[in-house]
Amino acid sequence: MRVSLLSFQLSIENEPYEDALVDGVHVDDPQTLAPATPVSVPRAVVRPLVNGRPVCARYLFDASALLTQRDVSGPVDLFTCTCGEPGCAGLFDDTVLEVEGPLVHWHFPEDPFRATLGENWFTSAEPLTFTFTREQYLHALAGLTVGLVANERELGEPLALSPVEDRPTEPLLERLAAWQEDFRAGAAAMSQRLDTFGPLLGEDLVATLDSNIEIRMPAWTVALTLADHRVGPTLDGRARDTAMQEVLVRDIVPSMLLSRDNVIRAARELGLLELEDWALVDFSASAVGVDLPEMEELAEPFRQASMRVVLR
Ligand SMILES: [Zn+2]
Repeated sequence: MRVSLLSFQLSIENEPYEDALVDGVHVDDPQTLAPATPVSVPRAVVRPLVNGRPVCARYLFDASALLTQRDVSGPVDLFTCTCGEPGCAGLFDDTVLEVEGPLVHWHFPEDPFRATLGENWFTSAEPLTFTFTREQYLHALAGLTVGLVANERELGEPLALSPVEDRPTEPLLERLAAWQEDFRAGAAAMSQRLDTFGPLLGEDLVATLDSNIEIRMPAWTVALTLADHRVGPTLDGRARDTAMQEVLVRDIVPSMLLSRDNVIRAARELGLLELEDWALVDFSASAVGVDLPEMEELAEPFRQASMRVVLR
Protein backbone atom coordinates (compact mmCIF):
# COMPACT_ATOMS: atom_id res chain seq x y z
CA MET A 1 0.00 0.00 0.00
CA ARG A 2 1.27 3.44 -0.94
CA VAL A 3 0.82 6.24 1.55
CA SER A 4 0.38 9.60 -0.17
CA LEU A 5 0.49 13.23 0.92
CA LEU A 6 -2.66 15.30 0.79
CA SER A 7 -2.68 19.05 0.25
CA PHE A 8 -5.05 21.64 -1.18
CA GLN A 9 -4.87 24.43 -3.69
CA LEU A 10 -7.12 27.34 -2.80
CA SER A 11 -8.24 30.23 -4.97
CA ILE A 12 -11.04 32.76 -4.72
CA GLU A 13 -13.43 33.52 -7.55
CA ASN A 14 -15.97 36.27 -7.72
CA GLU A 15 -19.28 34.82 -8.70
CA PRO A 16 -22.19 36.99 -9.84
CA TYR A 17 -25.04 36.70 -7.41
CA GLU A 18 -28.37 36.48 -9.10
CA ASP A 19 -31.01 37.97 -6.91
CA ALA A 20 -34.69 37.80 -7.71
CA LEU A 21 -36.38 40.30 -9.97
CA VAL A 22 -39.84 41.24 -8.69
CA ASP A 23 -41.81 43.77 -10.70
CA GLY A 24 -38.59 44.92 -12.32
CA VAL A 25 -36.85 45.54 -8.97
CA HIS A 26 -33.88 43.48 -7.82
CA VAL A 27 -34.68 42.00 -4.44
CA ASP A 28 -32.67 39.94 -2.02
CA ASP A 29 -35.69 38.39 -0.46
CA PRO A 30 -38.89 38.14 -2.50
CA GLN A 31 -40.85 37.87 0.77
CA THR A 32 -39.88 41.27 2.11
CA LEU A 33 -39.27 42.90 -1.28
CA ALA A 34 -36.11 44.47 0.09
CA PRO A 35 -34.27 46.01 -2.87
CA ALA A 36 -30.79 44.74 -3.53
CA THR A 37 -28.01 45.95 -5.74
CA PRO A 38 -26.45 43.37 -8.05
CA VAL A 39 -23.45 41.89 -6.28
CA SER A 40 -20.79 39.31 -6.74
CA VAL A 41 -20.09 36.73 -4.08
CA PRO A 42 -16.59 35.50 -3.30
CA ARG A 43 -16.40 31.74 -3.65
CA ALA A 44 -13.57 29.45 -2.53
CA VAL A 45 -12.38 27.10 -5.23
CA VAL A 46 -10.49 24.21 -3.67
CA ARG A 47 -8.57 21.51 -5.50
CA PRO A 48 -7.18 18.50 -3.68
CA LEU A 49 -3.60 17.57 -4.54
CA VAL A 50 -2.12 14.16 -3.88
CA ASN A 51 1.66 14.21 -3.79
CA GLY A 52 1.35 17.68 -5.27
CA ARG A 53 -0.69 16.62 -8.29
CA PRO A 54 -4.39 17.39 -8.94
CA VAL A 55 -6.64 14.39 -8.30
CA CYS A 56 -9.39 15.02 -10.83
CA ALA A 57 -10.02 17.95 -13.14
CA ARG A 58 -13.35 16.78 -14.51
CA TYR A 59 -15.67 17.42 -11.56
CA LEU A 60 -16.07 20.06 -8.89
CA PHE A 61 -14.40 19.17 -5.61
CA ASP A 62 -16.73 19.79 -2.66
CA ALA A 63 -14.47 20.93 0.17
CA SER A 64 -17.52 21.58 2.37
CA ALA A 65 -18.42 17.87 2.27
CA LEU A 66 -14.91 16.86 3.27
CA LEU A 67 -14.58 19.48 6.03
CA THR A 68 -17.98 18.37 7.38
CA GLN A 69 -17.20 14.66 7.46
CA ARG A 70 -13.49 14.99 8.32
CA ASP A 71 -12.35 11.58 9.60
CA VAL A 72 -15.65 9.77 9.97
CA SER A 73 -15.93 6.62 7.86
CA GLY A 74 -18.78 6.52 5.37
CA PRO A 75 -19.88 7.59 1.93
CA VAL A 76 -18.95 11.13 0.92
CA ASP A 77 -19.50 13.07 -2.30
CA LEU A 78 -15.99 14.45 -2.64
CA PHE A 79 -16.70 15.39 -6.23
CA THR A 80 -19.95 16.72 -7.59
CA CYS A 81 -21.56 18.89 -10.25
CA THR A 82 -21.19 22.68 -10.04
CA CYS A 83 -24.86 22.76 -8.95
CA GLY A 84 -24.12 20.43 -6.02
CA GLU A 85 -26.04 17.43 -7.38
CA PRO A 86 -23.53 14.62 -8.11
CA GLY A 87 -25.96 12.69 -10.33
CA CYS A 88 -26.17 15.73 -12.59
CA ALA A 89 -22.48 15.18 -13.45
CA GLY A 90 -22.98 11.43 -13.90
CA LEU A 91 -21.65 10.55 -10.43
CA PHE A 92 -24.03 7.87 -9.16
CA ASP A 93 -21.90 5.61 -6.96
CA ASP A 94 -20.56 6.68 -3.60
CA THR A 95 -16.98 7.54 -2.88
CA VAL A 96 -16.17 5.95 0.47
CA LEU A 97 -14.05 7.49 3.17
CA GLU A 98 -12.59 4.79 5.38
CA VAL A 99 -10.67 5.36 8.57
CA GLU A 100 -8.53 2.38 9.47
CA GLY A 101 -6.45 2.91 12.61
CA PRO A 102 -3.76 5.48 11.75
CA LEU A 103 -4.75 5.56 8.07
CA VAL A 104 -7.45 7.29 6.03
CA HIS A 105 -8.50 5.92 2.63
CA TRP A 106 -10.52 7.46 -0.17
CA HIS A 107 -12.05 4.68 -2.26
CA PHE A 108 -13.37 5.98 -5.57
CA PRO A 109 -15.99 3.99 -7.53
CA GLU A 110 -14.82 2.49 -10.83
CA ASP A 111 -17.44 4.35 -12.81
CA PRO A 112 -16.67 7.07 -13.80
CA PHE A 113 -13.42 7.58 -11.88
CA ARG A 114 -11.36 4.88 -13.64
CA ALA A 115 -11.63 7.08 -16.71
CA THR A 116 -11.64 10.54 -15.12
CA LEU A 117 -9.05 10.62 -12.33
CA GLY A 118 -5.86 12.34 -13.38
CA GLU A 119 -3.62 10.27 -15.61
CA ASN A 120 -1.30 7.55 -14.34
CA TRP A 121 -2.60 7.43 -10.80
CA PHE A 122 -3.39 3.73 -10.89
CA THR A 123 -2.49 0.73 -13.02
CA SER A 124 -5.47 -1.02 -14.59
CA ALA A 125 -5.49 -3.74 -11.92
CA GLU A 126 -5.29 -1.46 -8.88
CA PRO A 127 -8.34 -0.36 -6.90
CA LEU A 128 -8.93 3.41 -7.04
CA THR A 129 -7.79 4.09 -3.49
CA PHE A 130 -5.75 6.94 -2.07
CA THR A 131 -4.27 6.34 1.38
CA PHE A 132 -3.04 9.00 3.79
CA THR A 133 -1.85 8.90 7.37
CA ARG A 134 -4.64 10.22 9.54
CA GLU A 135 -2.29 12.70 11.15
CA GLN A 136 -1.13 14.23 7.85
CA TYR A 137 -4.69 14.13 6.48
CA LEU A 138 -6.15 16.02 9.46
CA HIS A 139 -3.23 18.44 9.32
CA ALA A 140 -4.05 19.16 5.65
CA LEU A 141 -7.73 19.72 6.49
CA ALA A 142 -6.81 22.06 9.34
CA GLY A 143 -4.47 23.95 6.99
CA LEU A 144 -7.28 24.33 4.45
CA THR A 145 -9.66 25.64 7.14
CA VAL A 146 -7.08 28.18 8.30
CA GLY A 147 -6.55 29.30 4.69
CA LEU A 148 -10.28 29.69 4.08
CA VAL A 149 -10.83 31.68 7.27
CA ALA A 150 -7.82 33.93 6.54
CA ASN A 151 -9.23 34.68 3.07
CA GLU A 152 -12.65 35.39 4.51
CA ARG A 153 -11.21 37.80 7.07
CA GLU A 154 -9.28 39.62 4.39
CA LEU A 155 -12.37 39.90 2.17
CA GLY A 156 -14.48 41.09 5.06
CA GLU A 157 -17.53 39.10 3.98
CA PRO A 158 -18.72 35.47 4.09
CA LEU A 159 -16.94 33.19 1.65
CA ALA A 160 -19.14 30.72 -0.26
CA LEU A 161 -17.78 27.18 -0.11
CA SER A 162 -20.50 24.59 -0.61
CA PRO A 163 -21.75 24.33 -4.21
CA VAL A 164 -25.34 24.54 -2.95
CA GLU A 165 -24.97 27.92 -1.23
CA ASP A 166 -25.19 31.03 -3.33
CA ARG A 167 -24.87 33.97 -0.97
CA PRO A 168 -23.99 32.98 2.58
CA THR A 169 -24.69 35.44 5.38
CA GLU A 170 -22.88 33.72 8.27
CA PRO A 171 -19.11 33.38 8.58
CA LEU A 172 -17.67 30.12 7.28
CA LEU A 173 -16.73 28.72 10.69
CA GLU A 174 -20.32 29.11 11.90
CA ARG A 175 -21.68 27.39 8.81
CA LEU A 176 -19.11 24.63 9.15
CA ALA A 177 -20.18 24.02 12.75
CA ALA A 178 -23.83 23.84 11.63
CA TRP A 179 -22.98 21.41 8.79
CA GLN A 180 -21.07 19.20 11.21
CA GLU A 181 -24.00 19.28 13.62
CA ASP A 182 -26.39 18.21 10.82
CA PHE A 183 -23.98 15.48 9.79
CA ARG A 184 -23.83 14.11 13.36
CA ALA A 185 -27.64 14.21 13.61
CA GLY A 186 -27.90 12.39 10.28
CA ALA A 187 -25.41 9.76 11.43
CA ALA A 188 -27.40 9.26 14.65
CA ALA A 189 -30.64 8.89 12.67
CA MET A 190 -28.91 6.42 10.36
CA SER A 191 -27.69 4.34 13.28
CA GLN A 192 -31.21 4.30 14.76
CA ARG A 193 -32.53 3.24 11.38
CA LEU A 194 -30.02 0.41 11.31
CA ASP A 195 -31.18 -0.72 14.76
CA THR A 196 -34.81 -0.66 13.65
CA PHE A 197 -34.62 -2.20 10.20
CA GLY A 198 -31.46 -4.34 10.26
CA PRO A 199 -30.83 -6.23 6.99
CA LEU A 200 -33.98 -4.76 5.38
CA LEU A 201 -31.97 -1.55 4.94
CA GLY A 202 -29.84 -3.24 2.29
CA GLU A 203 -32.72 -4.72 0.33
CA ASP A 204 -35.05 -3.46 -2.37
CA LEU A 205 -38.48 -4.54 -3.43
CA VAL A 206 -38.57 -4.89 -7.21
CA ALA A 207 -41.89 -5.03 -9.02
CA THR A 208 -41.87 -5.93 -12.71
CA LEU A 209 -45.01 -4.51 -14.27
CA ASP A 210 -44.24 -5.70 -17.74
CA SER A 211 -41.05 -6.25 -19.66
CA ASN A 212 -40.41 -2.52 -19.94
CA ILE A 213 -41.31 -1.17 -16.56
CA GLU A 214 -39.62 -1.99 -13.30
CA ILE A 215 -40.29 -0.24 -10.04
CA ARG A 216 -37.72 -0.46 -7.30
CA MET A 217 -38.03 0.80 -3.76
CA PRO A 218 -36.22 0.20 -0.47
CA ALA A 219 -37.74 -2.65 1.56
CA TRP A 220 -37.58 -0.53 4.73
CA THR A 221 -39.88 2.10 3.23
CA VAL A 222 -42.45 -0.66 2.64
CA ALA A 223 -42.16 -1.52 6.36
CA LEU A 224 -42.48 2.15 7.29
CA THR A 225 -45.58 2.63 5.13
CA LEU A 226 -47.18 -0.45 6.66
CA ALA A 227 -46.47 0.94 10.14
CA ASP A 228 -48.05 4.25 9.12
CA HIS A 229 -51.08 2.34 7.85
CA ARG A 230 -51.39 0.25 11.03
CA VAL A 231 -51.11 3.24 13.38
CA GLY A 232 -53.82 5.03 11.45
CA PRO A 233 -54.62 8.74 11.24
CA THR A 234 -55.57 9.49 14.87
CA LEU A 235 -52.13 10.15 16.39
CA ASP A 236 -49.85 13.12 15.73
CA GLY A 237 -46.24 14.16 16.13
CA ARG A 238 -44.18 12.41 18.77
CA ALA A 239 -47.00 10.09 19.86
CA ARG A 240 -47.27 8.90 16.28
CA ASP A 241 -43.50 8.37 15.93
CA THR A 242 -43.49 6.33 19.13
CA ALA A 243 -46.46 4.20 18.07
CA MET A 244 -44.91 3.56 14.63
CA GLN A 245 -41.56 2.64 16.15
CA GLU A 246 -43.31 0.20 18.49
CA VAL A 247 -45.28 -1.59 15.80
CA LEU A 248 -42.19 -1.70 13.55
CA VAL A 249 -39.90 -3.23 16.16
CA ARG A 250 -42.44 -5.55 17.76
CA ASP A 251 -44.24 -6.82 14.73
CA ILE A 252 -43.57 -5.62 11.18
CA VAL A 253 -39.79 -5.86 10.90
CA PRO A 254 -39.48 -9.29 12.63
CA SER A 255 -42.16 -10.67 10.33
CA MET A 256 -40.50 -9.20 7.21
CA LEU A 257 -37.11 -10.54 8.27
CA LEU A 258 -38.64 -13.97 8.91
CA SER A 259 -39.92 -14.14 5.34
CA ARG A 260 -39.31 -11.68 2.51
CA ASP A 261 -42.70 -12.77 1.13
CA ASN A 262 -44.13 -10.61 3.89
CA VAL A 263 -42.48 -7.54 2.29
CA ILE A 264 -44.17 -8.45 -0.98
CA ARG A 265 -47.49 -9.15 0.72
CA ALA A 266 -47.36 -5.71 2.37
CA ALA A 267 -46.52 -3.97 -0.91
CA ARG A 268 -49.44 -5.63 -2.69
CA GLU A 269 -51.79 -4.77 0.12
CA LEU A 270 -50.68 -1.13 0.34
CA GLY A 271 -50.48 -0.53 -3.39
CA LEU A 272 -48.26 1.89 -5.28
CA LEU A 273 -50.05 5.14 -4.45
CA GLU A 274 -49.85 4.58 -0.72
CA LEU A 275 -46.21 3.47 -0.93
CA GLU A 276 -45.25 6.39 -3.07
CA ASP A 277 -45.33 8.95 -0.25
CA TRP A 278 -42.72 7.11 1.76
CA ALA A 279 -40.79 5.55 -1.04
CA LEU A 280 -40.54 8.68 -3.15
CA VAL A 281 -37.02 9.65 -2.11
CA ASP A 282 -35.54 6.43 -3.40
CA PHE A 283 -38.28 5.59 -5.80
CA SER A 284 -37.05 4.83 -9.26
CA ALA A 285 -38.71 3.44 -12.28
CA SER A 286 -36.93 2.52 -15.44
CA ALA A 287 -38.68 2.30 -18.72
CA VAL A 288 -36.65 1.50 -21.78
CA GLY A 289 -38.12 2.59 -25.06
CA VAL A 290 -41.49 3.61 -23.62
CA ASP A 291 -42.83 6.75 -22.04
CA LEU A 292 -43.44 6.19 -18.38
CA PRO A 293 -47.19 6.31 -17.68
CA GLU A 294 -48.66 8.44 -14.90
CA MET A 295 -48.45 6.99 -11.39
CA GLU A 296 -52.25 6.51 -11.34
CA GLU A 297 -52.06 4.35 -14.43
CA LEU A 298 -49.38 2.19 -12.81
CA ALA A 299 -51.33 1.69 -9.58
CA GLU A 300 -53.46 -1.23 -10.74
CA PRO A 301 -50.71 -3.09 -12.70
CA PHE A 302 -48.51 -2.71 -9.58
CA ARG A 303 -50.86 -4.88 -7.49
CA GLN A 304 -50.68 -7.65 -10.11
CA ALA A 305 -46.95 -7.29 -10.83
CA SER A 306 -44.45 -10.03 -10.15
CA MET A 307 -42.40 -8.93 -7.15
CA ARG A 308 -39.18 -9.98 -5.55
CA VAL A 309 -36.83 -8.74 -2.84
CA VAL A 310 -33.21 -8.28 -3.89
CA LEU A 311 -29.99 -7.07 -2.32
CA ARG A 312 -29.27 -3.50 -3.29
ZN1 LIG B 1 -25.57 20.12 -12.10
